[in-house]
Amino acid sequence: DQSKVKEFFRFCQENEVEFVDFRFTDIKGVWHHVSYSMASIDEESFNGLPFDGSSIPAWQPINRSDMQLIPDPVSYFLDPFTADTTVVVFCDVWDIYKNQPYEKCPRSIAKKALKYLESTGLGDVAYFGPENEFFVFDSIKIQDSINCQSYEVDVEEGTWNSNRAYENGYNLGHRPGTKGGYFPVAPVDSMVDIRAEMVKVLNQVGLETFVVHHEVAQGQGEIGVRFGDLIKAADNVQKLKYVVKMVAHMNGKTATFMPKPLYGDNGSGMHTHISIWNKGENTFAGDAYQGLSETALHFVGGVLNHAKSAAAFTNASTNSYKRLIPGFEAPSILTYSAQNRSASVRIPYVQGAKAKRVEFRFPDSSANPYLAFSALLMAGIDGIQTKANPGEPMEMDLFELSLDEIREKGIKQMPHTLRSAVENMLADKDYLKKGDVFSEDFLQTYKAYKFETEIWPWEARPHPFEFISTY
Ligand code: GLN
Ligand code: MG
Ligand code: MG
Ligand code: MG
Repeated sequence: DQSKVKEFFRFCQENEVEFVDFRFTDIKGVWHHVSYSMASIDEESFNGLPFDGSSIPAWQPINRSDMQLIPDPVSYFLDPFTADTTVVVFCDVWDIYKNQPYEKCPRSIAKKALKYLESTGLGDVAYFGPENEFFVFDSIKIQDSINCQSYEVDVEEGTWNSNRAYENGYNLGHRPGTKGGYFPVAPVDSMVDIRAEMVKVLNQVGLETFVVHHEVAQGQGEIGVRFGDLIKAADNVQKLKYVVKMVAHMNGKTATFMPKPLYGDNGSGMHTHISIWNKGENTFAGDAYQGLSETALHFVGGVLNHAKSAAAFTNASTNSYKRLIPGFEAPSILTYSAQNRSASVRIPYVQGAKAKRVEFRFPDSSANPYLAFSALLMAGIDGIQTKANPGEPMEMDLFELSLDEIREKGIKQMPHTLRSAVENMLADKDYLKKGDVFSEDFLQTYKAYKFETEIWPWEARPHPFEFISTY
C-alpha cells in the first residue's frame, strides 16, 4: 500500500541509502537479488520491476521469460555486509502472462496458503517458530567429508569412528568428541565469539534472538529466533541463513545448513513450532492432551497423515534422509508425544495458553521455508477439516523400537529417500491443492526439477562408501 511505500522512501532518505537490493526466493530456497541505484527508483517501481524469468531454474521458458518483481514494502532492512549503504527489500513474483501471482513463486504460494486459512474461518494468523541448526567448518573439514578416504570406517560395525583418538585416551586438543558439543564451555566450545557476532548482526537486521548455544555435534550451533507469522518467519529464515553464512565467510570459515554433513554425529534440523490464532485467541490451547485443544490434535493428525508427502517440501534434499534415522534426536517415526525428542511431533512444556504450540521435528533447513511452512499448514488444516485422529501419544524412547515392533504396531515412518517423498507427494496431493495454493503445474514442475537436478544425479553417482563395502 502507498503509505508503506512512502515510509520506505523516508527510511531511505534518513539512512542515506545508495542502493536498493530487491530479493526473491527460487524453488530450492536460494535467495536471488538485483540492485538499483537509489536515484533510479521511485514509487512507480513498487508496481513491478522486470527480470529474466528464464534464467531462474525451473521457472519460465525462454520465449516467455519476461517477469515482474513486486517489492513488498513491509519488510526491508539495511544490508550489514555491503560497503555502500544498501537496503534489501523482499519481493513477490508476478506472472504478466496470466496476470496473477506467479504459481512457482514460493513466497506467493505462502501468501495463498494464508488466504486459504482465513477463508476456512479456522484462523486469521498462523505463527511459525523455526529452529535452524547449522555447522561451521574449516574448509579443510568439508574436504574431509567430500573425500571419504579420511574417514576411518569400521566395516564390521558399519560405523565411522571420529572419536577413536578420544577412546584411546589421546587428548583431542579441546575439541568436542562425537556428540560432545552440548554444552561444555570454551575452549571446547570454540564458536563463542563467532556465534556472538552472528547474533549481533541478526539483531541489526531486525531478528529478535534469544538462546544461543553450541549444539550436540562437533562444530554445530543454534541461534534461537523469535517466532512470527508464516511470511515473517520464512523471511527470517532467509535472513538468518544469509547472516550466518556471511559472518562465517568473513571469519574464514564456512557455514552450512545441510541436514547431515557428518556420518555418526547429530544432523541439523529445522524444528518448526506452530500455533493458529483466531480473533486474538490461540486455537491450539485447550484441555485435551497436554493442554492442547481438539483443534490442535486434529492439526497434528493431519500433519501425521500427510507427512510422507509433505516431506517433499519439509525435507527437500537427498541428504535430508540421512538425518532421519534413530539415535540422533531426529525423528523417523510418525507419532507425537509430550517432551519427547525421539517423536516427530513434540508438545513442548510451556506455561499459559498463549505459549501453547506444537513442535514438528522432522523438517530441516534444506527446505524452502515458504513451501515447507505452507505444506505443513495445508496438512494441518486438512486434519482439522477431516477431524483427523492423531492416535495415542507414544511416551517411550522410540529409538529403542526394533523394525519388527514398528511393523507390528503399524507405526508410520518418514520416507527414507527424497525419491519416495516426491513420489508420495504426487500420490497424496489433494490437501496441497485446496484453494489452488499449490497448483498442479507447480507440483509437476517441482517433481521434474527435483528428479532432474537432485534425485537422478545422486542415484547415478558411485558413493565413496561403495568402495569399502563392495567387492
Ligand atoms: N540436531 C537435532 C535434529 O537433527 C536436534 C537436537 C535438539 O535440538 N535437541 O533434529
Ligand atoms: Mg532449539
Ligand atoms: Mg537444537
Ligand atoms: Mg526444538
